[in-house]
Amino acid sequence: MARRKKIYEGKAKILYEGPEPGTIVQYFKDDATAFNAEKKDVIDGKGVLNNRLSEFFMNGLTQIGVPTHFIRRLNMREQLVRSCEIVPLEVIVRNYAAGTMSKRLGIAEGTQLPRPIVEYCYKDDALGDPLVSEEHIAAFGWASQQDMEDILSLALRVNDFMSGVMFGVGIRLVDFKIEIGRVYEGDFQRLIIADEISPDSCRLWDIETGEKLDKDVFRRDLGNLTDAYSEVARRLGVLPKTNVAKPTLIN
Ligand code: C5P
Repeated sequence: MARRKKIYEGKAKILYEGPEPGTIVQYFKDDATAFNAEKKDVIDGKGVLNNRLSEFFMNGLTQIGVPTHFIRRLNMREQLVRSCEIVPLEVIVRNYAAGTMSKRLGIAEGTQLPRPIVEYCYKDDALGDPLVSEEHIAAFGWASQQDMEDILSLALRVNDFMSGVMFGVGIRLVDFKIEIGRVYEGDFQRLIIADEISPDSCRLWDIETGEKLDKDVFRRDLGNLTDAYSEVARRLGVLPKTNVAKPTLIN
């Protein structure tokens, strides 16, 4: 059996050359890292959950006409995706203050923002992915003006979709991060959603209780991460509904 070629190994995923030209196999590891890999652990089952959840969100986006890199899930830990050139930006959308925004601006976590706020960070681990402005992006040529318009529109569409889907299962989408890929079709280039969308890259709070169901459980030592991700998957119907008690009649 021929050994497949590893293209890249990141903190949570490994990319292998795909079976056809222009494709990549994305393997989801169980490794969890936070604070630019200062905190690390292996969380049993995290990769399997993120593979399924990212498939679920990317498929939903495709259904509403938002282009993504997702082609199909291959197995428990792998999915086939379209190869693309990653725009070196982390695009963050925030609906409620939390995390670095709360720290930077002194706004209490959970404060609803007047409107969704989109932020850009330059993708560079050595620099800790610093926040940058559109001025930096244009001046250093990381994305064109047209790209920035398209990225903003994609980010807001993903936000509306994800907020609605999560609201439907009693979860508040506080914020999230996406990455954008460039694909070339003849003389044209198109931007698509790449990487992953999962509880690793979103903040998800139970609407009723405020319980955190995302990577903050790991970052802040709040409990079992797989339990939190399984709860998200269970509510979305991505995992079989096991251990669900039979409905009981009240009165
Ligand atoms: O840390 P911060 O508050 O800036 O994170 C905002 C959102 O972006 C969070 O949902 C976080 O999980 C996500 N994020 C990410 N990868 C990073 C930085 C942030 O997925 N490198």
